[in-house]
Amino acid sequence: MNAYLSLLSLFLPVQRRDTWLSEWNAELWHVRSECGWVAALHLLRGALADARELRALAQKDVSADRAAVRPWKQSWIQPLALPLASLLIMACAAMCVPGARDVLLSQSYNAPSSIVLLKDAEQPTIAYATYSEWTRRPQLLFDEFAFYAVQKRYVNGERLRVATASSNLLRMLGLGGPAGDGMYLSYAAAKQLGYPSQVRLGASMVRVRGVLPRTTLKLWDDPEVIVLADRLPAGMHGHVLGAVAQGAPNINWGFVVTYSKQPPLHIHVTPLEERVFMPGRAFLFACVILLFALPGTRPLSREDGPRMPMRLRWRPTIFVGVQVLLLLAAAYLGSLAIAMSMALARPEDVGGPQAFAAFVLLLPTIRLTLRSNRHRCPCCLRKLGHPARVGQPSAAFLNWYGTELLCAQGHGMMHIPDMPTTWFSEPRWMPLDSSWAVLFSQ
Ligand SMILES: [Zn+2]
Repeated sequence: MNAYLSLLSLFLPVQRRDTWLSEWNAELWHVRSECGWVAALHLLRGALADARELRALAQKDVSADRAAVRPWKQSWIQPLALPLASLLIMACAAMCVPGARDVLLSQSYNAPSSIVLLKDAEQPTIAYATYSEWTRRPQLLFDEFAFYAVQKRYVNGERLRVATASSNLLRMLGLGGPAGDGMYLSYAAAKQLGYPSQVRLGASMVRVRGVLPRTTLKLWDDPEVIVLADRLPAGMHGHVLGAVAQGAPNINWGFVVTYSKQPPLHIHVTPLEERVFMPGRAFLFACVILLFALPGTRPLSREDGPRMPMRLRWRPTIFVGVQVLLLLAAAYLGSLAIAMSMALARPEDVGGPQAFAAFVLLLPTIRLTLRSNRHRCPCCLRKLGHPARVGQPSAAFLNWYGTELLCAQGHGMMHIPDMPTTWFSEPRWMPLDSSWAVLFSQ
């Protein structure tokens, strides 16, 4: 019998085992000597029940202790951890995608709004002779033109897209200083060639005058090397850029150039801004759509705006604002990484996927954030807990019926009506004064 009790004691916590065993051994000795073996056997059944109960109580204490050891679960730091983690993950993702990294690390490029790309409606390119004639004729629509033609040539043994351009091209694009001859490398080409000071182009050595910034501008044919020259060989065919004059009529859809002895030339016009990827615009568009979608998918709850003094409102508002800002930054980086990883050829095609990705990332996360901040103490920003039902549905005339939530730090209680009445239609914050502090000292 003593061995049976020793066996039962093994199921108990170590710190209680010896005491429990000595007590039950003493009880067993007493019952066996006074009442006999049959009574002792009955006593052992009671020992089994006692051991079970003690074990259940010990497990309950352990789980309560664990909850107390992890106070961060209820603290205000925990809601910030998820947005911060997602921001770090998205930042790493954006830095791993080459296109997204270039956008983040490059200087922002604002394309001059007056610059347009001109294209013959029937031919892929415009003849240099036509361009020369336009520059000689007095113009009403344009202040000036630039010309470039792209060919694949060997530069230091690498086959690159080399643009031979009029000397004012970079100045018109807002990328270079005064006009002048010379060779300019794109950032990617300079990196590929090892940032040379001069390169071999065909049979001659050419000095490199500069490296273009890491912008997201893509001209037609995407030149990697630009060679500026005052005079270009006649007979070339290439692309023409024009600087629209101030006060010129709207030519967004193109125009027709008429000649006396030749058929008219139909010119298509593409604003340069459309050839520049502006990630901020696509993201802003997604945010505007989100503003309309959010109330549609998540009706404003009565619990969203509890009635409380103004001095207590700013702290929860700033807290939610910080979370939303972190989520916006994470969604911007994440959507940029997703869009640029698709490796679309035309920069104007990247905006759509980025806006869609940003919307898909933002909608559920913002929803969850707003939902998780509903029941939060305005003083310590901890989650309110210990819900208690108050009142009866039939007694809402002189009393209230709903749920009462309590701040574990003793700052106050939130009364949420389950059945709104004319005098109690929205949640109310009931602050507790210092006289209640003794109840929350633990
Ligand atoms: Zn509190």
